[in-house]
Formats: sequence, structure tokens, C-alpha cells
Amino acid sequence: MPQTTPLPQGTMIGILGGGQLGRMLSLAASKLGMRTHIYCPDSHSPAFEVTPHRTIAAYDDEAALAAFADAVDIITYEFENVPAATAEFLAARKPLHPGANALAVAQDRLKEKAFIAARNIAVAPYRPVETLDQLLAAIDDLALPAVLKTTRLGYDGKGQRVIQDRSEAGAAFEQLQPKPLVLEAFVPFEKEISVVVARSSTGEVKAFDAAENVHLHHILHTSTVPANIPAALEKQAAMAAKAIVIALNYVGVLGVEFFVVPGAERPTLLVNEIAPRVHNSGHWTEAVCLTDQFEQHIRAILGWPLGNPARLADVVMENLIGDDSLAVTELLPGGVQPHLYGKTDPRPGRKMGHINKIVPKAE
Ligand code: AMP
Repeated sequence: MPQTTPLPQGTMIGILGGGQLGRMLSLAASKLGMRTHIYCPDSHSPAFEVTPHRTIAAYDDEAALAAFADAVDIITYEFENVPAATAEFLAARKPLHPGANALAVAQDRLKEKAFIAARNIAVAPYRPVETLDQLLAAIDDLALPAVLKTTRLGYDGKGQRVIQDRSEAGAAFEQLQPKPLVLEAFVPFEKEISVVVARSSTGEVKAFDAAENVHLHHILHTSTVPANIPAALEKQAAMAAKAIVIALNYVGVLGVEFFVVPGAERPTLLVNEIAPRVHNSGHWTEAVCLTDQFEQHIRAILGWPLGNPARLADVVMENLIGDDSLAVTELLPGGVQPHLYGKTDPRPGRKMGHINKIVPKAE
């Protein structure tokens, strides 16, 4: 049922997950006059710093989950690996956005690919793999190189191996856990882009411009907007992202990652994966859009009118990983907007903050 009445100021939004995305969602919610309650097992979570309402408990602690559900009006989350049992337990008590169905699709690469391909949106050729024999047959079908991935719990390049030679199949199969796995044809992409799209509980849908993403050591390094791709491809990416949220009956913000593949006449798009949450490649919206992805997500789940996603300037978002954040003051000439997540321990590979470098539009 579409929710037709916008939720009022003062609504208590429960957020599962206390990382930087939860923190930024909480800040955006405050700006709209809402309150937030963060649920996270880790007592040092960055999101705890920005709201007084918190639960520190495991995601399978039913007593804590029930008390959390009682304390909030609606529930959302900042990470896609919310256990299905947790989502169902909470959804039985309070509205959960995005819903358990979207979570189930996005948590499982096989379900995700089948769902997207069924909408006539292209994904890389793939085969399910439960046994070594199936893997060898899939290699024969798809040819090498190919990428073997876990279907669940993969992120930032974890849970995947590129197979160059048939002799590597056995070791790759043994290493990757949990099973089942999926083998994907290696995509000779020219670049990677993403689109952050929102669908509200009233059914309204709006997409931000596509970002062109560069990864370093499997972690997002920069998102540059506009993406350097033909206008027709950008339009196609936005249409695909919108089709996915509509088909999922989705409520909230969703990130859609694409490969741009060179073609004989023109480049084409393949969807790599979707993320049922605000997305690192959408952090640029903070600096140059009237409504950023965090506010858009909050508006969407409250049933408020979505904000205008129009982009007012060109921008490059750069992640500050590990020690990068220590010298942040040196990175801030005019036109650079910092966002630090309040994490005290800059371990290698840890996302500590980001900066948005704004390129003003020519007069
Ligand atoms: P994922 O965890 O699926 O987002 O993959 C992480 C990164 O690995 C992607 O951003 C790509 O750079 C690379 N990658 C994943 N799948 C493929 C593929 N089928 N072909 C080529 N590169 C891939």
C-alpha cells in the first residue's frame, strides 16, 4: 500500500547500522526535524556521536530488537547485510524501508542478476556454481578470464577471485566461502559508473546524475560528475535505475553500479550490482545538489515529496582512506568541502571521510 500521508516532524527513525552512512542519514534526518535511534552492536560506532538515542546489541538479540521497534516509528538501514531474520522480525512490528523483499534480492548476487535480467536490463553473462564440476562446466560455457564470486556477503572486492586459467579453478572454489558461488564472464569495461535513485513511499521516483567511479585496491577512490559518457548512455543508466526501483516496489535510495563496455558502434551498459541504501558514490550530492542522497532517502521513507536532484556544479568526490584523513587541512583550498566521520583510528583501508572538490559552472 502506498503511504499517502507524509510522516510528521519529530518522527523517530530507527537506523540499523552505526557507520558513516548511518551517521549521515541521522544528520540529514535532524535537518528535517526528525529524531533518529541508531541500532548497532559496536559501541564505538560513528553514528552514535550525532544522536542520543541508541541501542548497542547484536542483530539477533530479539529482546533488544523488540525494544528498538517499540521506541521508533519507522525503520531503515545503512548496510545491505542486515540478516533476513532481523528484517522480518522488525518489519512485523514497524514499517521497514527498503522492504525485506528488496533486501533479499540485493543480498544474493544470483537473485539480483535474475531479477535485473528479467527486466531486460543487461548483466554480465553468469552461471550459478555449487560444485567444482559446475564451475568447470561454467568455465567451458563462459570462457576465461572469468570472475568467481560469493553470492552473499561480498563487498569492496572481498569474496571474489579472477580465474585466468582452468588450473586455478579448484583453489578458487575451495577458498571462496560461503557457497553457493557465481561465475561471471570477465567484463572488459572501459569505465565504471553508478546512479543513485530514489523512490518514495508515494511512488515518486527521481535519479541523481551518473557518477564515474575509480577504485583503488578495490575501494572507491573517486566519483567524478558528470561522468564522461555519451548523453544517451547516461539517460539509459537513469532509466535502468528507475526501472529497478519501480520493479522492486522500493522505498528509499538505491545505488546501481554499471560497467561501461566498449562496443563496435557505441558503448553499452551492464549492471554490476545494486545496493539497497545510500551509496558511497553518491556522497558528491552533498556538495552540489539542492537535495543530497541522505535527505532524499529520509524524504522517501517519510513519504515526503522528493527533493530536486539537479546538479548545480561539476564535482569530484574523493574518499579519505586510512592516513589520508590526518592531513585533511592541507586538502582544503577554496571549493573543497570536507566530511569527516569522527573515527579515531585510521587503520589502512578504513573509510575515514571524504572531500568534495567543487568545479563552479562557467557563467
Ligand atoms: P563487486 O564486488 O561485484 O562490485 O566487484 C568489485 C569490483 O571488481 C568491480 O567494481 C570491478 O572493478 C571488478 N569486477 C567485478 N566483477 C567483474 C567482472 N565480471 N568483470 C570485470 N571486473 C569485475
